[in-house]
Order: sequence, then structure tokens, then C-alpha cells
Amino acid sequence: MGIVEKYKLQLKPCPFCGGKASIDEVSYGSGNYGSGYQVIAYCANCDLKMEGKDTSWESLENCEPQLKDIVAKWNRRV
Ligand SMILES: [Zn+2]
Repeated sequence: MGIVEKYKLQLKPCPFCGGKASIDEVSYGSGNYGSGYQVIAYCANCDLKMEGKDTSWESLENCEPQLKDIVAKWNRRV
């Protein structure tokens, strides 16, 4: 199981509509500012979306603090 899947499973349903919550990882940036991944927790049913801290991680494996953070943030809203 990938690291993102592991954290997806910890997400509670959407606080607004009870829909299934998920996590997307977005790779961004290149060149002088480096590149990395940002994680976004979102509801598959409505438009609720929460973005992880905008920090650069070189690989998904290094995203763990960010994933932890977004899951905690999402679950606080439920
Ligand atoms: Zn929702």
C-alpha cells in the first residue's frame, strides 16, 4: 500500500455532506524553486477541499508530515 493510500483510509467522511473523502497529491514547481508535492484532501461528492502546507518535498515518501497534517485538519472539521 502506498503512503497516500494509508492516510486516505484515516480520513473521516466529508463534514458537510458525508461523502467519501480522498487525497490527491499534486506535483508542482520546477527549476529555481525546486519541485515537490502538495497534498489536497477533498470530498468526492461536494466541492470541499483542503490544501496541505505549501512545502516542497522531493518525493511522496517525504510527504508524510504533510499527509499527517492534512488528515488531522480534515478530521477536526468533522
Ligand atoms: Zn462533501
